[in-house]
Amino acid sequence: MPQFEKSLLWFRRDLRVFDHAALHHALKASKQVFCVFVFDTDILQPLLDAGLSADRRVEFIHASIVELDSELRKLGGGLIVRHGAARHEIPALAAQLGVDAVFTNHDYEPQATQRDAEVANALAADGRQWRSFKDQVIFERDEILTLANQPFSVFTPYKNAWMKRLAAADGAFFLQPYPIEKYASQLAPSPTSPTSPADAIPSLAALGFETTNLLDLKITPGMSGAASLLEDFMPRIGQYGQARDFPAIKGPSYLSVHLRFGTISIRTLARMAYQTLHQGSAASGAAVWLSELTWRDFYFMILHHHPHVAQRAFKPDYDAIQWESGAHAESLFQAWCDGRTGYPLVDAAMLQLNQSGYMHNRLRMVVASFLMKDLGIDWRWGEQYFAAKLNDFDLAANNGGWQWAASSGCDAQPYFRIFNPTTQSEKFDADGKFIRRYLPQLAGLTGKHIHAPWLAPLDELEKAGIKLGKNYPLPLVQHDEARKLTLQRYAVVKKVTDE
Ligand code: FAD
Repeated sequence: MPQFEKSLLWFRRDLRVFDHAALHHALKASKQVFCVFVFDTDILQPLLDAGLSADRRVEFIHASIVELDSELRKLGGGLIVRHGAARHEIPALAAQLGVDAVFTNHDYEPQATQRDAEVANALAADGRQWRSFKDQVIFERDEILTLANQPFSVFTPYKNAWMKRLAAADGAFFLQPYPIEKYASQLAPSPTSPTSPADAIPSLAALGFETTNLLDLKITPGMSGAASLLEDFMPRIGQYGQARDFPAIKGPSYLSVHLRFGTISIRTLARMAYQTLHQGSAASGAAVWLSELTWRDFYFMILHHHPHVAQRAFKPDYDAIQWESGAHAESLFQAWCDGRTGYPLVDAAMLQLNQSGYMHNRLRMVVASFLMKDLGIDWRWGEQYFAAKLNDFDLAANNGGWQWAASSGCDAQPYFRIFNPTTQSEKFDADGKFIRRYLPQLAGLTGKHIHAPWLAPLDELEKAGIKLGKNYPLPLVQHDEARKLTLQRYAVVKKVTDE
């Protein structure tokens, strides 16, 4: 006997109709389930206020919502779409529909948990229940602890414990999908009956946003986009371990934006990787990829236990570092943002980000290191820039990545390990294919000079049509000197560590 007459399912970063924890539980516990998505003005208005009305993520979400509504309709339901502050819209809609409970999936970001607490309180004051479930990770919060029952702060032992827990159940239970279709008769039909499913959804323009180059980039939103990327990736998973570090080749899965918005479920991906762990030649690539998915869980867990990382260093000593400031720092930062540092790999990577909203993982590490350890700029500036630009921006992973590169994070790289942007370029883009894709003005350079044009003989530069300082910048800093300055800058940490 269902516990509730009517419930409301609130979609957030889980825009799919399959393998969905909260939807599954709502359908099982209720006679009728309404579904809602809120274009949350608490999130969107600051973008508009900053003049950022062309945002690929908003377009991605919008298109994913259109597909979600259409898939819900096929199952006999439909999506109610609201545009307003979610913290008011959800309690108001719950009252309007007279539901007994609101179902949703956990969110681990500090602002989102605050919003959820506010919504849960408003519902409780009205006599309605709040039900939230783990969905976007395999293991969350306190599920993986050290032998002393503490959260891990080092990745490898965390991963070992994560794998052990999974293996103990042979993947079953933790990786199995939450069935939806067999309970779909509980879905409430859409309250509107438009001629086209998209009619119930405000247009991008009505939300105040413009279309971007998302479709030109061949980034396909929604469940269908995620499914085709996965289909493309699975035959390549065996090569992932070797291919993933080279930005010019198709090594990674490109699924991050779909994981961000939940157009695919983490269980589906982890299950496919887990099942491939024993499949001969594909096994080692699948193990590396599964390990990357574990990093994702790890950073969500860190953010949950240490929400201060959103503002400050994980390791407090690192807050004593004096970063560059003033107009000079701002001009260095702007050059980095624009891809004008004079280091081709760094510049090509920043252009990839600016033009597509994606940046290859190896390059995220290279440009982050360059910003902090070559230009002396505070990691928070770079973190914010990535947050504004990345399609897959996720507070937990982004903060984790930046603090890893700044050496201030849990299990970060040591402060004295400083990437050399030229040798990284020679190693990971040896023939300059990636650089040439984004910096065609350097295409004529041969051999090693593509990685460090300022070292090329004048006649070679001339032959290639390059005028340094005119059509390609001179390097902003000399890496060897910058490295020395960085070691001095980080000396405050060294002193603390040595004491
Ligand atoms: P694949 O290589 O196919 O990996 C599969 C999935 O594993 C990814 O989609 C992602 O969900 C997860 N993953 C992979 N590497 C990591 C990692 N190091 N940490 C956490 N999860 C990982 N990832 C984001 O999803 N959002 C971010 O905002 C983000 N910011 C980053 C900032 C910096 C400075 C660095 C160094 C890394 C950041 N990453 C971030 C991690 C990583 O770069 C991206 O997840 C990856 O490049 C996405 O491409 P993919 O889907 O093709 O990855």
